[in-house]
Amino acid sequence: MALYDLTLNEIQEYLKLEPYRARQVVEFMYKHLGDLSKASALPKNVLNQIAGDPYFQTSLKLLKLSQCDNGQTHKFLFELNDHKLIESVLMQYHNRSSVCISTQSGCKMNCSFCATGQMGFKRNLTKGEIVEQVITLMRFCLRNNYRPVTNLVFMGMGEPLDNYENTVSASWAIKNDLNLGAKHITISTVGIVPAIESMADDNLPFRLAVSLHGADNETRSRIVPINKKYPIETLVVALKKYLMASGSRRISLEWTLIEGTNDSVDQAIKLSKIAKDLKAHVNLIYLNPTKATLNRPTDKNTALAFKSMLDNHGINCTLRRTRGQSIDAACGQLASIN
Ligand code: SAH
Repeated sequence: MALYDLTLNEIQEYLKLEPYRARQVVEFMYKHLGDLSKASALPKNVLNQIAGDPYFQTSLKLLKLSQCDNGQTHKFLFELNDHKLIESVLMQYHNRSSVCISTQSGCKMNCSFCATGQMGFKRNLTKGEIVEQVITLMRFCLRNNYRPVTNLVFMGMGEPLDNYENTVSASWAIKNDLNLGAKHITISTVGIVPAIESMADDNLPFRLAVSLHGADNETRSRIVPINKKYPIETLVVALKKYLMASGSRRISLEWTLIEGTNDSVDQAIKLSKIAKDLKAHVNLIYLNPTKATLNRPTDKNTALAFKSMLDNHGINCTLRRTRGQSIDAACGQLASIN
């Protein structure tokens, strides 16, 4: 438990503060991004309580900061209080600034091409550890005159819906206290069906991205083993339920192009059917090299042909440029050896 795990009421109770002081602490934590130099409203004794008591200290220690793409991509390696490791990535674009946040140290899902699965599962992150990644990256942008964070994707280490409660409570804090719009917060999942149903039941306003990668069960199960438990038909039913829970939502389907595995005409046609059914946007990316996979990315011409087939079926589709590959910060490359 650390400061960012606590609610306003808990802060008031544990620090034994007047309500207005507790509100000032929350303002310091979120509006001033936990920057002690901006905490002038708080009296010394409260500051000492926050900064001096290990219980209330921050839960992340920055071990290493790497950058590439001409300083437009940064990878943060953090150590948690129990020495487990996680990574977060900051990506600057000409019109936005996006953070890629972890929800677990390691991952249980074991997708065949993903380095995070290879490091095994360490543990779920707390709400505070999730929120503090965002706070730290936001503070970094502010101090270094980078564009302030506009978008957040839960596409770092781990499976967000395998840590549902903490991911959801962190998302609410990021929306309400850090003022990122719900449409700018994307929860990415390998397709944990009961949790997608909970998202619909809980009427969550956040965007959902689904790592599909295969458009029939045989192909998908080879890449994403959890598909054996939650096959495509079941997944699609849950996604429709999520879509219907509110008209304003949009789903995106993630598709990593792997040479000879999921880049055929047959897969493009089947993917188009699923995407049309879900009115989904498709994000295509090239496979990033990892120790987990001997496969190669689809070549550019085949990728462009794959995209054209989706375009011709009227599917909204983007072929994304890979970011962060040279510092192992790209999709599927996050893996801290501990
Ligand atoms: N567990 C969540 C969040 C991780 S997001 C999920 O699966 O959605 C990371 C994204 O990168 C996922 O879409 C994942 O399938 C994809 N990915 C994993 N390994 C990759 C690789 N080597 N190259 C490209 N994408 C990869």
